[in-house]
Amino acid sequence: MEGFSDYQATWGDKAREKMVKEQIIARGISDKAVIAAMRKVPRHLFVPGEYMPDSYDDSPLPIGYGQTISQPYIVALMTETVKPGKGKRILEIGTGSGYQAAILAEICDTVYTIEIVPELADQSAALFKKTGYSNVISKYGDGYQGWPEYAPFDIIVVTAAPREIPRPLIDQLADNGRMVIPVGPPSAVQELILVEKTHDVIVQSRISFVRFVPFKRLPAGNQAP
Ligand code: SAH
Repeated sequence: MEGFSDYQATWGDKAREKMVKEQIIARGISDKAVIAAMRKVPRHLFVPGEYMPDSYDDSPLPIGYGQTISQPYIVALMTETVKPGKGKRILEIGTGSGYQAAILAEICDTVYTIEIVPELADQSAALFKKTGYSNVISKYGDGYQGWPEYAPFDIIVVTAAPREIPRPLIDQLADNGRMVIPVGPPSAVQELILVEKTHDVIVQSRISFVRFVPFKRLPAGNQAP
């Protein structure tokens, strides 16, 4: 088994290097910290076993429960857009596989992340432990409400698409904060939006067209703790 995981690690290093060169740098991602994080995080450990051989492909992949791990380029684009760095407080909505949170955790001190599918919340928490990302604080819940106990956040990254930007997330953005969020109808092309808050003035700009899984809500009366 030892030998197998050594082989896997070596294969992963090579496949990841190719991914970073061809999918990330070649498409214009230039933030050094983002590139270093994309080089480092073992994406193949964040996908279900049967998809491991495809884990460095230029595409999203199923992670079960109807959800997906985003395409590597989109993860890099969203990360670069929010300008992460040490000393910034960061919230992710939609932990999913945990991959995006791990990328952010390479760059920031602490990452708070919320997932609405309990099984995915459990799996990703176990994976953060296994892979040593002790600076990721995760919980099960409906990210619509944000995480008031830790607000305000300098950065919010939303990885599921609501029809409209949830008001509590705008409220929990700190002064000079940046949020990146896909917005649009479910199962259709959506727009990736950058929200910037400066002295309570909110400015939105379009970054790209994207396709994300829908932002879900917990039914009223069934709110997670
Ligand atoms: N960032 C993830 C992407 C997973 S797909 C990754 O790197 O793998 C988006 C995730 O958002 C799914 O797991 C979905 O269950 C979750 N999600 C959808 N609506 C949510 C909500 N209201 N609160 C928290 N998570 C939500």
